[in-house]
Amino acid sequence: MAALNKEKHIKYWQRCFNSYLPTPYTSSDSTRLMWACFITSAYDLLSIPFSSTDRTKIRSWVLSLQHPDGGFCGSPTHSLPGQESHKGTANLAATFFALITLAIASDGDEEAKAAFAGVRRGKLLRWLKKLQRDDGSFGQHLWEGKPVGGRDTRHSYLASCIRWMLRGHRKDDDEPWEDDVDVKAMIAHLRRGQTYDGGLAEFSDYESHAGYAYCAVGALWFLDRPSSASSPRPEPSSLTAMDQGIPDRPGMLRFLAGRQINYLAEEEDEDEEEEENFIQDAVGSLTLEEGCRHVGFNGRWNKKADTCYVWWAAATLAMLGDPYPLSVEGSRRYLLEVTQHPIGGFGKFAGTVPDIYHSYLGLAVLAMFGDSDLKEFDAGFAVSQISNNSAILPAASSGAMSSEPQDPSQAESPVWDKQTRRKFEKQVTIRAAARAPSLTSNTSKSTSEFYDPCQAAAQQSYKCLFRNGGDKSMCGEYFQAYRDCKQAWTERRRGVPSKPKEPTSE
Ligand SMILES: [Zn+2]
Repeated sequence: MAALNKEKHIKYWQRCFNSYLPTPYTSSDSTRLMWACFITSAYDLLSIPFSSTDRTKIRSWVLSLQHPDGGFCGSPTHSLPGQESHKGTANLAATFFALITLAIASDGDEEAKAAFAGVRRGKLLRWLKKLQRDDGSFGQHLWEGKPVGGRDTRHSYLASCIRWMLRGHRKDDDEPWEDDVDVKAMIAHLRRGQTYDGGLAEFSDYESHAGYAYCAVGALWFLDRPSSASSPRPEPSSLTAMDQGIPDRPGMLRFLAGRQINYLAEEEDEDEEEEENFIQDAVGSLTLEEGCRHVGFNGRWNKKADTCYVWWAAATLAMLGDPYPLSVEGSRRYLLEVTQHPIGGFGKFAGTVPDIYHSYLGLAVLAMFGDSDLKEFDAGFAVSQISNNSAILPAASSGAMSSEPQDPSQAESPVWDKQTRRKFEKQVTIRAAARAPSLTSNTSKSTSEFYDPCQAAAQQSYKCLFRNGGDKSMCGEYFQAYRDCKQAWTERRRGVPSKPKEPTSE
């Protein structure tokens, strides 16, 4: 069986860390913290060391995104219009990724103990409480003091993780302390989400979804999780929140096991893009016995197999604590032989270019399955056990982050400060000057510093490489077109003081 091409994956993540991300990422700039977290965590998983300078930079950048009223914003250039938009908008996902990134970026015991130093825990926990609705669900962010955003389980999961990390093992009567969220209502809301097929959705009459199942089970799992590193993890049978929140456990297991698909690679080669990999001539023939060389997962009924759903389904099963009713070897083969990309990383489907999200979750699954090239993995946090145990657990249980930040100037500094604004506006000007229609069809991209007019040429190169099994000698013309584009762009930018964008690979 193909193995994890560790060297290529390391290079992939180093490119992600050391250069601006390619143009397709501009539309998700508001979630830049998530990308940063995946990149930082991939370094950790692959044991790529950060320099102390890099660790300091990561820490200070993450803390710069902290909202003065609690929580973290997803990026320095994104804010909802309206009320106090100069402060940015804190949201649950960004806050989760900020805390995880701070934990991973610490190195050694001393740094790990201080991983959350600078996090305004009190404000953050008060903000978290405000995000919960009476029905137990959580909103994504506050608007005029009220929670807004869907009621789906992603928010419940994020809130539960954040609560666990910042609340530690403290009890309500410990001093000083903040009011807790309503745990009973949270469980009741999740319980109402299990669907007729055993899966889980925002509500029981919505479509079930493996990603939502992961989030619901994860939210419950963190409610049951011991907060001290020395506490033994309870047996699955004693997980009371899990028992209360998942009324039909066998149904949930069936739903998750049913996400597996016997992936028929030879059919995909013949089909058009949208039809490819819509497998299964006979669903009833699916077996976990030998015979399924590649086992992919989908997230919902009648959908295609997708790299990330191996993670969402398998990690949910891991948290449920039951013996895996899944084909571990078939899934590993699917990832390593079908969606692992020749340039490193994982694509969403066979033949698609790698992206950060699927590349990270591909690694996550393999780490969870015990790949010897990767660190041990924590299915609940989706980061390595090493990071979790060295930073998050001591921080959460020792109260190391109980103090508010020492730097008073940080308390009022808006996310979108004058310097950031100037930089952003300057880059818009650069974009206009650098646009090169003759070299690329990407003339309508979003305005940001990540604009790269040579992206199309770069993508052509990778497509060529992929088509030719990584044989560079077959793709010389594509490389030359890219170099020509870069040279033309560099000349246009000459005289502009900011750092030019480096070539990117993904
Ligand atoms: Zn996916």
